[in-house]
Amino acid sequence: MSTTPKKTITVHAGNLAIGGDAPVSVQSMTNIPVSNVTKTIEQIIKLEQEGAQLVRLAMRTEEDAKYISQIKHEVNVPLCADIHFNYKIAIKAIECGIDKLRINPGNIGAKENVIELVKAARGKNIPIRIGVNSGSVDLKKYGQVNPDTLVASAMEHVHILEDCNYTTIVVSIKSSDLLQTIEANRIFASRRQYPIHIGLTEAGYGTDCTIASSMVIGTLLYEGIGNTIRISMTGDPIHEVRIAKRLLEIGGFRFSPFTIIACPTCGRTDEQLDILGLAQEVTQMMHDRFEEILKKKLHHITVAIMGCEVNGPGEARHADVGIAGARNGRVVLFAKGEKITMLPAKEAVKAIAEQIAILSGC
Ligand code: SF4
Repeated sequence: MSTTPKKTITVHAGNLAIGGDAPVSVQSMTNIPVSNVTKTIEQIIKLEQEGAQLVRLAMRTEEDAKYISQIKHEVNVPLCADIHFNYKIAIKAIECGIDKLRINPGNIGAKENVIELVKAARGKNIPIRIGVNSGSVDLKKYGQVNPDTLVASAMEHVHILEDCNYTTIVVSIKSSDLLQTIEANRIFASRRQYPIHIGLTEAGYGTDCTIASSMVIGTLLYEGIGNTIRISMTGDPIHEVRIAKRLLEIGGFRFSPFTIIACPTCGRTDEQLDILGLAQEVTQMMHDRFEEILKKKLHHITVAIMGCEVNGPGEARHADVGIAGARNGRVVLFAKGEKITMLPAKEAVKAIAEQIAILSGC
């Protein structure tokens, strides 16, 4: 297993580089009809503020594509138009300033349509994402959905663009089946050097979606496969952006300014200590006071919140700053491996903040 990314070409969606040496990026998608321009703009701005680096919009008509110029005027994040079957919508989207297309060239009819679409895309160097899902595999042709047929289906579309000498391509191959998705992406990555957008399709919502998506995306990224990710989650897309960002940070694919280590607590935890409450307060304090400073300095801080004297002192000593629970609602404070003092738990967050201020020089 390797975290060295597999070599791919680089494409650009507006100012976002995808593939090559570019860091793995986070994508999302609006869930409001694009004709509701005001709400679409509001949602894109929220997604952008949360950290989305590319936002996809579903376009059903040429009329929809005409809203792109107005939307682009109000937002900074690059936009991708998701279009099925009608190449004329895609051409209109390009004319109106879209940064990327998601369209399957095998679904837009005659070869002349593809040639016309490619001509428009080439003029502005617009990446075309070929997106194959388990639901889009032609069962009459392939009989069943499995990693090989998913890849064969994607390759059909790839060949069409390659025949037009157009290689500004991103590919996604997604299934709702975890192992199928992982294997299909492995196969595709061994055949072509196009950037790959990874994630699951129809992944559901909440905890199940988070776990399933993290397993697939994490596995592929640790194998060096995947250049941009989306957690496809039912509901407000803001959640998918939050989860995708944390996935990249926790997985070590993106700088994370701090880590909070907390023990699960057990029967040894002093009944007067609220370890969960302390961990949450410390997390909030880190966001409020230190996140931006640490990001600027590229300085990582680990804080340990531990329940008792068994594993507590060890973890607290290994962290930059930590506390280990003692008796009677008191905790022992550690910084850089040294015991600093014992104090009441209600003073712990302030004391931790003071130690971090000393360590980070602010
Ligand atoms: S650190 Fe102590 S309180 Fe926390 S889980 Fe371990 S033994 Fe239990």
